[in-house]
Amino acid sequence: MDHHRFSWYPCVVATLLVLLWPGQASAGDDADCRRTVERVVKLLPKPPIRVVIVDANQAEPSARRALRRIDAFTTKGSPVVYLTHHSDVLQGALKEWALHEHVLAATIWHEMAHIEGADEAEAQRREEALLTDYIIRGRVDRVEGMRYLAILRSRRGKDGTLKHGQENAEETVNSRVLEHPIAVIECITGR
Ligand SMILES: [Zn+2]
Repeated sequence: MDHHRFSWYPCVVATLLVLLWPGQASAGDDADCRRTVERVVKLLPKPPIRVVIVDANQAEPSARRALRRIDAFTTKGSPVVYLTHHSDVLQGALKEWALHEHVLAATIWHEMAHIEGADEAEAQRREEALLTDYIIRGRVDRVEGMRYLAILRSRRGKDGTLKHGQENAEETVNSRVLEHPIAVIECITGR
């Protein structure tokens, strides 16, 4: 796979669910999220099959606490990359902040690695490699990018092993959250 080529992929919105009830995101939020994800996946070496944005507030209290700590997750056997709406990374990307857009792309790349069967350490390495590429190419501010990269690298010890709590950082799924997404973005590679 060529990690160094960044080309445009036609990203087609095939499905869009807007589920409104008290406390749920507005239709404007939904459209903003969709536009943002469509923009961000174009930064990736290849697009994900589907990205779904979920609201942690819709989860059961126990799962909600765990979901609030994560930006993204996957579920076993599914090709979907889930992003949490409250995530600082997504919120920054919604504001079109370059660092946040590229960090979000690297985060989606991490989840795509899991979908391809990578364990947590390997997914982290691929995420860091992509962010490093963005820094080298001057896509993000070098100082800010290196600072964020250092935080990512601190997830593992000097010997490369995962620090406590990293092994199952994403194993928090609640069906109610997954059934009522804020936005569903389908990406078609076109090749
Ligand atoms: Zn992971």
